[in-house]
Amino acid sequence: MSMERMFFKGCFAASVALLFCGIRTAGQEKHLTAREVIGRIQAHVGVPWQAETVDTFKAGNPDEPVTGVALTMMATMDVLERAAASGKNLIITHEPTFYNHLDKLDVLPEKEKDPVLAAKLAFIAEHHLVVWRFHDHWHRRTPDGIEAGMAHALGWEKQQDAENQYLFTVPETTLESLAADLKKKLDIHVLRVIGNPHLKVKKVGLVPGASGFQKETLALERDDVDVLVTGEPREWETVEYVADAVTQGKHKALIILGHIPSEQAGMEECTRWLKSFVSEVPVEFVPAKDPFWRY
Ligand SMILES: [Zn+2]
Repeated sequence: MSMERMFFKGCFAASVALLFCGIRTAGQEKHLTAREVIGRIQAHVGVPWQAETVDTFKAGNPDEPVTGVALTMMATMDVLERAAASGKNLIITHEPTFYNHLDKLDVLPEKEKDPVLAAKLAFIAEHHLVVWRFHDHWHRRTPDGIEAGMAHALGWEKQQDAENQYLFTVPETTLESLAADLKKKLDIHVLRVIGNPHLKVKKVGLVPGASGFQKETLALERDDVDVLVTGEPREWETVEYVADAVTQGKHKALIILGHIPSEQAGMEECTRWLKSFVSEVPVEFVPAKDPFWRY
């Protein structure tokens, strides 16, 4: 082979190598990582990022390329399985993955031996899942992202108080009818109510999730709240308080939706929002199932 030809061949090989190299580099650049998705969320959320927050990575490698995003109310085993089966590896969950608010594994006394925790961790590792929690900042938005999604799901946007987004004035109905309406609209199969079923109600405080006794009673203390609709109140706190109010003949009632149904639509809202600035990979809402059955 002449020197000239060898030179040409060499150049050709180098160009091909460069071409492939170039393509690979461009491809790698296009691979969105979990960390980049979260960076975009932080840039779009519209509230200052808090130093102290539960909105952090809980499992997996943040630099993992994202094949798809599954948003959910709670990263239950069932949700993780459904997300992985549909090829999505970034799970954005509103509530904890490991059974406590800070997702600390050592709250389980036998964390090394616990078979449920072990199976969940193994599934996450095996499927290269990355789990990130989105709780505090989604609530801190104006309006609160969860409340906005719930108001949308209930068709209550027009009934929402202009001053206080957690208060709604609905057309006057009975406690029983209101409970039936919530059950139907939110597709709940176990819902619990305290108060006279025939009580006339029109002023509703919607405080989803497990907001705690103080927030729940603050709503109930208001003259413009007939009924508090909540997710997961403590039975020896808010439940006992409302039971006492009812015994005392006060015009108060409590509807307990369950934690997941009380906030779930807020993460559906979050999915719509995330789709507006993440388009490279599929983004899907994976509803967590209400785990209870009725006896
Ligand atoms: Zn919440």
